[in-house]
Amino acid sequence: MTTHRPIAILPPAVAERIGAGEVVERPASVVRELLDNATDAGADEVTVEVRGGGLELIRVTDDGRGIPPDEVELAFRHHATSKIASLDDLLNLQTLGFRGEALPSIAAVAEVELLTSDDAHDSGTVVALRAGEIVRRRRTARQRGTTVTVRRLFYNVPARLKFLTTGRGETLAVGQLVRRYALANPALRLSLLLEGRLSFRSSGSGRLATAMADVYGATVADTLLSLPTRQIEGTTIGGLIGSRGVTRSSRDQVTLIVNGRCAACRSILLAVEAAYRPFLPRGRHPIAAIVVEVPPGELDPNVHPAKTEVRLLREPAVAAAIAEEVREIMGHAPVRPPADADFSLGAGQYRLPLSRRRLAEAPGPRWPPTPDEQQVLDSTLPTMRVLGQVDGSLILAEAEPGLFLIDQHRAHERIIYEELVRRAGQGAMEAQALLEPVVLELKPHQAALLEERLTDLDALGFRCERIGRRAYLVRAVPAVPGRESFTANLDALLEDATSDADGWRGRLMTALACRSAIRRNHPLSELDMEELVRGLASTAAPAVCPHGSPLILHLGRDFLRKQFGW
Ligand code: ADP
Ligand code: MG
Repeated sequence: MTTHRPIAILPPAVAERIGAGEVVERPASVVRELLDNATDAGADEVTVEVRGGGLELIRVTDDGRGIPPDEVELAFRHHATSKIASLDDLLNLQTLGFRGEALPSIAAVAEVELLTSDDAHDSGTVVALRAGEIVRRRRTARQRGTTVTVRRLFYNVPARLKFLTTGRGETLAVGQLVRRYALANPALRLSLLLEGRLSFRSSGSGRLATAMADVYGATVADTLLSLPTRQIEGTTIGGLIGSRGVTRSSRDQVTLIVNGRCAACRSILLAVEAAYRPFLPRGRHPIAAIVVEVPPGELDPNVHPAKTEVRLLREPAVAAAIAEEVREIMGHAPVRPPADADFSLGAGQYRLPLSRRRLAEAPGPRWPPTPDEQQVLDSTLPTMRVLGQVDGSLILAEAEPGLFLIDQHRAHERIIYEELVRRAGQGAMEAQALLEPVVLELKPHQAALLEERLTDLDALGFRCERIGRRAYLVRAVPAVPGRESFTANLDALLEDATSDADGWRGRLMTALACRSAIRRNHPLSELDMEELVRGLASTAAPAVCPHGSPLILHLGRDFLRKQFGW
């Protein structure tokens, strides 16, 4: 914020529009409020000190613009703020703070001392408060900036103390908040001291990638994929997301940053988690920092008194766009083991995180294909040179950024699957007559479902004809662009066509692709391999098979350098 006005009490008409409720729920909420104040004051460097889970001490020191001596008292009054003055300001917020409630709320439940100095005055001011009232005030020397010290939090609210987790739990919550804060404010140099020891420090480089490295370490940061900046209806989305190789066992490592605020937005977080689901092993969750910029008037940060949630005007559209990007990126990203993965003989084996998701969730084009999904997307796979086949099952290839191992079966599955979806979408699925028609004997409810789906099946190339109460004759099957014959056990293949679960067409096509794809342990000519790699590069999700399992392993130059110790 560049403009600065004096602190003033909000007119009742504005104050009434501000969500009432408890601002200070736990130590982390105090830290958040004090960090917000430091950020709004234009600080470059902020230090957070915490002792005893924040109940003993929280101290936040900033180098921001400070508070003029004659405004210090006012800062502790309810609804006193320098950040907004009118309803209009409230609807077009430029600052993190706006309620004028944090300092008075904290001072009501703790012993507070504030030391502050602005540029315009020779000396700074210290005030000490008890039960919300100033009990001591003097002048003091201090460089520009503010230090707020909060001691004995909730000493006068025993009921609140009972509801807090252990000191350790509160410390963890503060640690998590400070790290998220560093992601939301990459230009801020932020330090966290726990019990006097440095626990976290961000470099303040101004780059999200650096902030992610500060929080998750350089090894993880190196494997992050970028969510390209994209505009949708005036909203900009972007960020960095973790690949399938770096996951966490808890759900809370997706940080959402909306107009510089780290706050939850349920529908977006759920959409991200859902988009990742088919790509991650069961029980594992993604790491990501997602940055959303909306016009201030489209953001409501006023939904939760402790600022933990925000609401967006175009939330469903924004959530859908982010989820689409995540799916798109994950569908293209080869598995890349982190450079420090231990491959040495005898050491713990590196295990590829495979996932076998429900087919209905499989990534890539779905049934019915939407116009967007039918067009072949630009592949991010580099142009590869095939070097040979490994174990009759993997294609070894090289490209500018290192070595690639491609699972030939899954690659072929992906190619066939997309071709089938494309043909079916254009109503161009060809049928091939079976030399010997196959008889299907079905259970009554299966027969009923098949009867309903005869036209749909016809469009997919399956010509079935009823020959008895529950018996059908399959006369033709789709002409699949595969290698293997898939007509053995047709009844098992058509199981999906008589299942009452949704997405049966997509599953049927996945099963077709799986059956007709080249198998593992099958020698391939150089030409075959080249064709396969080329075909894969033009699919919409070249990194995963239609079941969602990874199909490319990428050993990059950094990886090789590290492994060989060059
Ligand atoms: P709000 O942030 O919603 O305005 P607060 O109670 O948090 O309300 O703070 C009241 C006012 O005190 C702020 O509007 C701001 O002018 C001033 N203030 C608080 N903390 C700081 C700080 N660290 N640096 C400069 N000014 C501050
Ligand atoms: Mg504030």
